[in-house]
Amino acid sequence: MDPGEARTRALADILAAEDTPCPNCGYNLRGLTGDRCPECNQRLEIAVRLAEDRLCMLIFTIITLCIGSAPLLCLLMIAVIAFSSSRGRMTGSELWWIVLIPGIFGPLLGVGAGFLASARGRRWFRRLPDGQADALSIASALTVILLAVAYFSKMIHEIG
Ligand SMILES: [Zn+2]
Repeated sequence: MDPGEARTRALADILAAEDTPCPNCGYNLRGLTGDRCPECNQRLEIAVRLAEDRLCMLIFTIITLCIGSAPLLCLLMIAVIAFSSSRGRMTGSELWWIVLIPGIFGPLLGVGAGFLASARGRRWFRRLPDGQADALSIASALTVILLAVAYFSKMIHEIG
């Protein structure tokens, strides 16, 4: 039996026992013996896929890092513009909140998001042991939340 025939046979074995919708049109393929959907005529094949795909966690982490990075980079840009237009000297607190924290975390989170979005980063993330991938997602979310809370309370403090 050639591999193609074996796959068609395996497909028929699965479809003999289970209600399975066609991925294209949703037609119930139960009992199908060939390799084409009777409804939409698309060719079907069986494939091996990951039981638990990390795509969602990866996307979540990338979005979280972008959400953290973008406002910090904006803040840094504003600080650079304000500084170069020689508005005067910055106080220690200003330097800390609009230069140092954005200067460190903005690029760091941005580079992290860029790396995870790259082909190499995606592969790296998928190969991490389960606990480490979870820890990385949670750590990036916590970092962004802590930064948001810190800036928010600083803002309220300034206004109040
Ligand atoms: Zn179909």
